[in-house]
Amino acid sequence: QAKERQLTSSVYAAGHDEAHLRRLKMLSDLRTAIDDEQFHIQYQPKIAVSNRQATQLEALIRWNHPEQGFVPPDEFIPLAENSGYIRTISRWVLQTVIRQLAEWRRSELSIAVAVNISALDLVDAGLPRYVQALLDQHELPPSALGLEITETTVMKDARHALHILQELRSLGVAIAIDDFGTGYSSLAQLRSLPVDELKIDKSFVMKLAGQAEDAEDPVIVRSTIDLAHNMGLKVVAEGVEDEATWWRLAGYGCDSIQGYWISRPMPADALPEWLGEFAN
Ligand code: C2E
Ligand code: CA
Ligand code: CA
Ligand code: CA
Repeated sequence: QAKERQLTSSVYAAGHDEAHLRRLKMLSDLRTAIDDEQFHIQYQPKIAVSNRQATQLEALIRWNHPEQGFVPPDEFIPLAENSGYIRTISRWVLQTVIRQLAEWRRSELSIAVAVNISALDLVDAGLPRYVQALLDQHELPPSALGLEITETTVMKDARHALHILQELRSLGVAIAIDDFGTGYSSLAQLRSLPVDELKIDKSFVMKLAGQAEDAEDPVIVRSTIDLAHNMGLKVVAEGVEDEATWWRLAGYGCDSIQGYWISRPMPADALPEWLGEFAN
């Protein structure tokens, strides 16, 4: 029996090492991905419920690994966060998005883009200056840029993060709290944050359709929208996959929606056509 236990633990250790090695390899690959042009950005629209106009796009990073092909951000972003490399990635995303915004404006397309940022970005005291310099360089108004920060991120190192967040917002950049409802913070805690918008997490939104009005998820979504509005915040729902969910959210007074039902994330060059078709 002892032998068996030993065997299991060595098999476990081997599996463990393998996963560890794989992460190390991925991390070292990650560090050359920018220079080797393996990243690109896809853009997913958010549209206003009132007039069905696109209000903003969200930038989502894509990694095309030379051997593994598409590696989802949920896999490599946490790795980049744990290693500190996320700061380099975030700056690359900001730079790429701002260049794209400038290009769109040159062809008379004025739309805003929100970039996802991480907890480590909010301890990067140089970030507000970096953002301002990019906007200046490309002659863009700050309103062209938004930032999405997850709920847990802001709460983690609240004091420090708050200061940098305040600086970013005073530049005129719109701030959204992402994945709202998945963390521990209450709406009351949000009151003290420099925030413009709440993004209700898709785990609640995707369960809306087919549920009774008094079931848990509809009640959570509806009361979040009401309370957010009372605090002067806009609400966007992510993960809207069908028309029934759209109508429900419209009934609850949700301001904007995002999801596969409107559009999947798409490459930058597909956007002008999509916007043209969507408006008609
Ligand atoms: P997120 O910011 O919460 O982004 C929403 C995710 O849901 C995206 O996955 C998006 O493609 C997906 N999604 C959108 N609409 C629907 C829908 O109707 N149904 C379903 N099932 N999913 C939908 P993606 O692109 O794989 O990104 C996953 C996460 O990776 C993001 O979650 C975000 O936390 C992170 N991420 C992505 N790009 C970046 C980035 O540039 N920087 C940072 N720091 N994180 C990023
Ligand atoms: Ca997001
Ligand atoms: Ca989200
Ligand atoms: Ca998420």
